[in-house]
Amino acid sequence: MIKMADLYGQYLSIKTDLDRAIEDVIRDSAFINGKYVKKFEEEFASYLGVDYCIGVGNGTDALEIIIKSFDFPEGSEIIVPSNSFIASSEAVSNSNCRVVFCDCNDNYTISLESLREKISEKTKAVIAIHLYGHPCEMDELLEISKTNNLKLIEDCAQAHGAEYKNKKVGTFGDASAFSFYPGKNLGAYGDAGAIVSNNESIAQKVRMIANHGRVEKYDHLFEGRNSRLDGLQAAVLSAKLKYLDKWTSIRIELAEEYMKMLNNVSSIELPKVQPYVKHVYHLFVIKAKLRDSLKDFLFKEGIETGIHYPISLPKLKAYQYLHQADENFASNINDSFLLSLPIGEHLGKSDIEKVVQKLEIFYA
Ligand SMILES: *Cc1c(COP(=O)(O)O)cnc(C)c1O
Repeated sequence: MIKMADLYGQYLSIKTDLDRAIEDVIRDSAFINGKYVKKFEEEFASYLGVDYCIGVGNGTDALEIIIKSFDFPEGSEIIVPSNSFIASSEAVSNSNCRVVFCDCNDNYTISLESLREKISEKTKAVIAIHLYGHPCEMDELLEISKTNNLKLIEDCAQAHGAEYKNKKVGTFGDASAFSFYPGKNLGAYGDAGAIVSNNESIAQKVRMIANHGRVEKYDHLFEGRNSRLDGLQAAVLSAKLKYLDKWTSIRIELAEEYMKMLNNVSSIELPKVQPYVKHVYHLFVIKAKLRDSLKDFLFKEGIETGIHYPISLPKLKAYQYLHQADENFASNINDSFLLSLPIGEHLGKSDIEKVVQKLEIFYA
């Protein structure tokens, strides 16, 4: 079977590092806020080239805590692109703000044109999602945010190590959210996330929110919540971070292989990549005719694929109340064509060749 991910295979490939990391945490009983959390926060900040990193419970909390830290008045609007996982918009509603969806461009990241149209007097922030691992248009987003006095929040859950004009994503906006859900490019062994920022006061505030509004033990400035990165996850992440660039280069090589070999299959559309970005291919997403039958066919041939996402956010039942499902968004139309082909450090060129060969047979 050619799988979308192979987390056990990945474990076996660096078993010594991971076993030692886990043992260390248990031996030191450094389960919460211990030295391994601090170590990972420092390593990840330095990997990205950002001043502050705050470990939190998961990527959804990271987004929510960032939004809460801005203390927007209730009913403020935050613009979110329509093609993503629900976490990106959930964080907005859970912070008493209103989600306003905008469209995506043809690399499935936020459309600047649509964003500009959606900005109103109530708009306070925009969430730039580096979807599938392709960075958003950061120069323009910084410009638009500045002109309209908006906070720029980056959702980097799918883009660890991705670069826009040689600078890593997560380092452009006011604050950025990372997820280390096990299947992400950098994944923990459970839920985990982080907030990064170059702004000291935002960094302090989010750290307090994530830890009960705490100043010191039993001294609380305000009510926060409990959303901390735990020591075991931090140690696993530190061990894996050393391999992230290597794993990413394998993803990029395999993506290039797909691009080359699928170039003349007319029934599919390949990902479009801007020349000035480093796409980290969390997902390799094509647009395919007869998508559902292709998916079934590939599965029968031993190839696992995914759909990200089968229903665009404005069309979800959860967002019926917003009445944005009928907008002429590209993502509202795309969602019946999207197909994610297997990619990851667990695969080799021969796997890609097999996927391509089966795809060609299907369309022949
Ligand atoms: C995974 C993901 C999240 C949420 O991360 P969790 O750690 O699962 O809470 C947010 N945004 C996007 C785009 C994601 O892919």
